[in-house]
Amino acid sequence: MDLRYTESDEAFRAEVRTWLAGVLPTLPTKPSPEDWPARREDDTTWQRMLHEAGYAGIDWPREFGGRGASPTEHLIFLEETERAGAPYVGVNFVGLLHAGPTLVAEASDEQRGRHLPRILRGEEVWCQGFSEPGAGSDLAALQTRAVRDGDEYVISGQKIWTSFAHVADYCELLVRTDPSAPKHRGITWLIMPMSSPGIDVRPLRTIAGSSEFGEMFLDEVRVPVANRVGEENDGWRVAMVTFSFERGTAFVGELLRTRELLGRMAKLAPDDAGVRRELGHILADLDALWALTKRNVTQTERGGGVPGLGGSVFKLYYSEVRHRLGDLAMRTLGADGLTLEDEHVQAWIQAMSLTIAAGTSQIQRNIVAERILGLPK
Ligand SMILES: Cc1cc2nc3c(=O)[nH]c(=O)nc-3n(C[C@H](O)[C@H](O)[C@H](O)COP(=O)(O)OP(=O)(O)OC[C@H]3O[C@@H](n4cnc5c(N)ncnc54)[C@H](O)[C@@H]3O)c2cc1C
Repeated sequence: MDLRYTESDEAFRAEVRTWLAGVLPTLPTKPSPEDWPARREDDTTWQRMLHEAGYAGIDWPREFGGRGASPTEHLIFLEETERAGAPYVGVNFVGLLHAGPTLVAEASDEQRGRHLPRILRGEEVWCQGFSEPGAGSDLAALQTRAVRDGDEYVISGQKIWTSFAHVADYCELLVRTDPSAPKHRGITWLIMPMSSPGIDVRPLRTIAGSSEFGEMFLDEVRVPVANRVGEENDGWRVAMVTFSFERGTAFVGELLRTRELLGRMAKLAPDDAGVRRELGHILADLDALWALTKRNVTQTERGGGVPGLGGSVFKLYYSEVRHRLGDLAMRTLGADGLTLEDEHVQAWIQAMSLTIAAGTSQIQRNIVAERILGLPK
């Protein structure tokens, strides 16, 4: 990747900066974290504003309503929005960061036309119904059954840890369509409208006090066969495309926010050589991860738009750096003076979930070992 910025890159940076400077002061104050309808409204309003200004789906192809920005412009956009403290994707993260890109790569023209413009305009919020109580790391063990009845699938089973299910309009859902096939071969990827009768979402509360995810019970939910993405029983392959986006570039905005967090922590930390050295190591790791991001984004571009396995390396290392930063904050900022609402406490707690969500660190290590390094299973 060419790390120097061209004149047109710098012009793009200036344009984004000017737009942000004008628009950010006009945003309303953030709603309370547990006011979910207000949070949905807040996040989708921001998405609408991005769309009106031509910045929605910055890295999506133009033919699907995106901006078709180059990898460098994509990274500049993320840098500038982070630097300005602009909102991030919020409840739109599944639709924008992995369900939408999966539709771009795998869906029919009809499905793309129905969903992609609405995701980009902030009119459709998506959630992800992959994990089940008995199928997390071993996702291919999932049991939720879909039985064909004419031109519909009738679905029964249970999903869990479904983020933002209570505010979502659609769900990217994995179901078992052939229980007699080997487990990876009997799975299908479906678009499930969350308004379908038979869906019961029950919130779960995290240790940080948030009810961002929940259990999702499905009782004879009818989904049209026309909502299937890919072939029947080919859902595992489609899910791997979803994961390549989820692990590939979905954490990039987080990385930039972590740099800002580290900067604020450095101002609060005691002036001690040991602490400064640890902070310096973490900052160097974040810089290395930013360089890795640039490499991954470039490879994605060259690979026809679908990220490769570099996302697993990024996801593994980034989430573990976040643990180190959180631990350092707890050791040095004086736990007695901190409250649950403090951003460093929230970041420390969130770090615990980062090594689990989107595939645990152990699973990422297995992927790196087997599929990148070629080590035996
Ligand atoms: C904040 C958050 C949000 C989430 N959002 C969603 C969502 O929106 N939709 C969704 O579908 N899911 C979601 N998940 C679920 C997430 O994908 C799973 O939690 C994750 O895949 C791990 O599955 P599990 O919790 O069942 O743990 P398990 O699979 O039971 O794992 C338990 C432990 O065993 C280890 N382990 C398991 N298998 C192996 C192995 N083969 N080799 C080595 N170690 C192994 C794991 O690494 C882990 O430490 C979310 C999770 C979190 C934390």
